[in-house]
Amino acid sequence: MTRDEFVTRYGAIYEHSPWVAERAWDGGIALDEALAPVFRRIVERAGTEAQLALLRAHPDLANRLGARSLTAHSANEQSGAGLDQCTEEEFAAFQALNTRYVVRFGFPFIIAVKGLDRAAILRAFRARVDGTPEAEFRTALDEVHKIAALRLAPADADADAEKPARRPIDHAALHALVVAVLRRHRADETNALAVADTVCAAERDDTEAHGVFRIPGYVEAMKTGLTNGSARPRLLEGPKAVVVVDGDHGVTPTAYRIGLPALAERTAALGAAVLAVRNSQHFAALWPEVEWLAARGFAALACTANLPYLAPFGATRPVFGTNPLAFAYPRDGGDPVVIDLASSAIARGEIQIAARDGRRVPPGVGIDAEGRPTRDPAAILSGGAQLPFGGHKGSAIALMVELLSGGVVGDLFSDLAAVGTEGSGMPPGGVFLLALDPEAIGGPGTRARADAFIDRLAAMPGVRLPGARRHAKRREAGPIMVQAALLETLRGLAGET
Ligand code: NDP
Repeated sequence: MTRDEFVTRYGAIYEHSPWVAERAWDGGIALDEALAPVFRRIVERAGTEAQLALLRAHPDLANRLGARSLTAHSANEQSGAGLDQCTEEEFAAFQALNTRYVVRFGFPFIIAVKGLDRAAILRAFRARVDGTPEAEFRTALDEVHKIAALRLAPADADADAEKPARRPIDHAALHALVVAVLRRHRADETNALAVADTVCAAERDDTEAHGVFRIPGYVEAMKTGLTNGSARPRLLEGPKAVVVVDGDHGVTPTAYRIGLPALAERTAALGAAVLAVRNSQHFAALWPEVEWLAARGFAALACTANLPYLAPFGATRPVFGTNPLAFAYPRDGGDPVVIDLASSAIARGEIQIAARDGRRVPPGVGIDAEGRPTRDPAAILSGGAQLPFGGHKGSAIALMVELLSGGVVGDLFSDLAAVGTEGSGMPPGGVFLLALDPEAIGGPGTRARADAFIDRLAAMPGVRLPGARRHAKRREAGPIMVQAALLETLRGLAGET
């Protein structure tokens, strides 16, 4: 397990205090060690200030009863205790008690609710609100440890879930297989190669959710004619600093074959330029395009909206796409810094893979058709909605992406994009790509100063640069490990079995 995987799995155990999991990993935890006492030890040794911050970060029991601002962990616990069914009187009692409690102690009321019902919780609340600050600080911390221990059991059970079998295949063979599949399903050579380059690069970089797992989706969309497998994108007239490409209803990697070189040329000449791709289907990760520009010395920012998958902060129905935003900055003689993230808590492909593999998703990722937090991938994918990362902040980024790829590029907004796609998952729409020449804008030496800054950052203990995981993976020799059943599916689609 990597540090990231460990922190992702256990970071939410002490709600909103992922430093507990981070320190456990940095302290060299043995993976077969019991985690509850390790986490408790880390919190106990962190000192009063950190403990107080942890208590303050914990969701406020009274003011958020039944509300979606709770993480899935706390929401599940609350519904288990029936707190989401509070009567108005009970709700008012919780609120009044909590107001007194917070004023008195400086952190919200925290209690492990497993095995308790609403009446028992209210009784405990009434008893504790009159305790002494020292005793209550200790009680609250003990309750937090109790909650963490309760949450650890299911998280560990998920970790032990059986992993599907994988088979090795080398990059060239996988690429040839993908081309064969697509050529057999209405893609011409240009379009098949463009897709194969993109998905195989994702496999090579260990970003499975945008790797060959996507190929059956491309095939379906090409078979139904939703995606034009013989698309011939065209450059359109636009303002001088803008390259406009009509994607001819094909896949975006094909549109990039003419769009990216034109964008690089325009950026070199003007210092900054935009690529606006319309009528195109972006079904891939965004890092390939920004990395391509960084390899030519440019900083780049890309985004695209997709299909209505994401509930805006505060809502329970999907409106936004999972709207990814990517950025790259070039480095002389080193890997560029590449940031590429979905606006959703996790990418949709990760949820689809969890559904395929029979795993639950982490808490806080989605809601079901009734707007209730769930860890069941199927409930999120069919009728439910994904949630933004970072609450209102991820929601704001998703909105910005809609306005760039829809409101600036002039293509579809996600809420209308599903019309005519027949649930294929293939997102028709626009891509916004901004390229900047740092030396032209900031003057000579700008990139060298940025390089020095990035070096200072990378040298800090605990810091790793975004993109570094993929770049390290890329340098690993050896075959790509693809899920055995998927490989069989691809061979079947290629007519080999
Ligand atoms: P992650 O949360 O895995 O990673 C987001 C970014 O953070 C990456 O740049 C990653 O770098 C970096 N990162 C992760 N962990 C650390 C760390 N510990 N320290 C520093 N940096 C870190 O990505 P998402 O799941 O949000 O992204 C999903 C992918 O899905 C993206 O490639 C996106 O383009 C794609 N997508 C595409 C859509 C489309 O419509 N075409 C829709 C939605 C998503 P690194 O890569 O090195 O781990």
